[in-house]
Amino acid sequence: MKTLRRKILFKKLDGILFDIDLTIFDRNRFAKDINEKLSKILKTSFENINLEEKNYVSSLKSSSDFNSNTFLKILSKKFDKEFLFLKKVRDDIFNKSYIYEDFLKLKKFKNFGIFSEGFKYFQLDKLKKTGIYRFFDKSKIFIFRRKLDLKNLDKISGNYIVIDDRINVCEALQKTKNLFPILIDRAEDKNFSGTKIKSLLELEEIF
Ligand SMILES: [Mg+2]
Repeated sequence: MKTLRRKILFKKLDGILFDIDLTIFDRNRFAKDINEKLSKILKTSFENINLEEKNYVSSLKSSSDFNSNTFLKILSKKFDKEFLFLKKVRDDIFNKSYIYEDFLKLKKFKNFGIFSEGFKYFQLDKLKKTGIYRFFDKSKIFIFRRKLDLKNLDKISGNYIVIDDRINVCEALQKTKNLFPILIDRAEDKNFSGTKIKSLLELEEIF
């Protein structure tokens, strides 16, 4: 944290941008819960739903191309169940418990933003349907299909601290002039040479 603080000491900081999946939203538990629920509704096994998902994901160029609606449409067709019904099942599963506790305990600052990738509607659902959307400055919400594409990084002007759970994202951001990455490593099993925290509450030291 000290090195990072030294680096940004002379810059005006415009806020903190958070990645969504596995940084503030427990995507793994959410995915497990939704697939369990779908397996019950579609009267098939949990393993079977996981397999369907795996097949769909393997057809994609990148995991950020995952479109939850497309996956539900595949299941709708295969199991002969209304898409809108399955969509409602998914939407009803969202709740605040999927937001990591350290984020909820964090004092909310007015300059919180998002730096995420994937389908915008689904990423925004993770904020809106869990009740945390209000904590973010809407002008600082950046959601791209590929967030590390240089043309997308160029769209972010201003100096931001960026919190992400992925080492490759943090390493790419280390090369930028205005984005200062911090790796969130709750399990403390990641090897990253830059600044690393195990709880978002450590961010309060910066301010
Ligand atoms: Mg992530």
